[in-house]
Amino acid sequence: MEIKKKDIRALSKEQLREFFVKEGDKAFRGNQVYEWLWNKSVHRFEDMTNISLDTREMLERHFTINHIEVDQLQRSSDGTIKNAVRLHDGLIVESVLIPAKNRTTACVSSQVGCSLDCKFCATAKLKRMRNLNPDEIYDQVVAIDRESRLYHNRPLSNIVFMGMGEPLMNYNNVLKAIDKITSPEGLGMSPKRIVVSTSGIPKMIKKMADDEVKFKLAVSLHSAIDEVRTSIMPFNATFPLKDLREALEYWYAKTKNRITYEYVVWDGINDSKKDVDALVEFCKFAPSKVNLIEYNPIDDGEFQQANSKALDLYISTLEAHNITVTVRRSRGKDIDAACGQLANKST
Ligand code: SAH
Repeated sequence: MEIKKKDIRALSKEQLREFFVKEGDKAFRGNQVYEWLWNKSVHRFEDMTNISLDTREMLERHFTINHIEVDQLQRSSDGTIKNAVRLHDGLIVESVLIPAKNRTTACVSSQVGCSLDCKFCATAKLKRMRNLNPDEIYDQVVAIDRESRLYHNRPLSNIVFMGMGEPLMNYNNVLKAIDKITSPEGLGMSPKRIVVSTSGIPKMIKKMADDEVKFKLAVSLHSAIDEVRTSIMPFNATFPLKDLREALEYWYAKTKNRITYEYVVWDGINDSKKDVDALVEFCKFAPSKVNLIEYNPIDDGEFQQANSKALDLYISTLEAHNITVTVRRSRGKDIDAACGQLANKST
């Protein structure tokens, strides 16, 4: 029976160094291989050209290099690119490249499917199948960076964890991936250019603050009234706004990083003055800004974007209270690449 080989990228640099010492080689060999695996992102031992043939064959006997494969690439008329990415066990997730004037953003997935049940999100229909490993998150970023260079002549500049899944439900792996993305031995990107978007899990927001993470935080709020929020984001019954608010105050006290609230205004759901006032109150607890996101319809059509009058009421009221508000237009709609539309339609 063939023994299942271990994925070499599950090893830390220290473990790799120890492995080489145990094999009678120098610890330094571990550093060289580590650089091939992460900084250079090679998928085959034979491509590690400064490693001797014997060593490469030895590695081949012990390990595999699990890696993603871009299964399908779709390009939108606005320059957005959506990758359907095949994982080593055949499951598929999606990631998106969003080009703008001064930046290129990668929107990456953190889980296959999602365990939360947000009523307006296409990914919710898939349920959660599994967490992504750090290398699977990292590889999505590498793939987008390569596409950015190829199709837009510039490297990737920003990353948002707004693809499939809830990043704080896969916290350890997301953190490990970000460590690699920001490390000079990986991609060397600044953590300030990374946003982790969460539906708002209080305990984990506090943990992030305690871990003194350097990336930015966005919270998908959508309503500052418990009843309304629970009706569209049912987990709010378990983690009510009072707990979220307390966690966000804790986050700000520790990190001094302001919070972005993502917010969609829907017809008949959160488009009244009462909803606007509740949001203004919520924004007072910690320095924050509001990103009004355009709604991207998903198939069953239960939700509809509110009219521009409702949107204007949000904008003018927030501005009157000196709360920064931006309106984010959706990108890549023609290829189902916009927020909340990632649901493996291509497969
Ligand atoms: N689970 C995380 C990250 C994934 S969702 C989170 O909840 O933040 C990324 C963003 O897209 C969230 O703000 C989410 O509320 C929003 N979103 C989900 N479905 C959407 C839709 N159909 N139209 C617009 N935005 C949507």
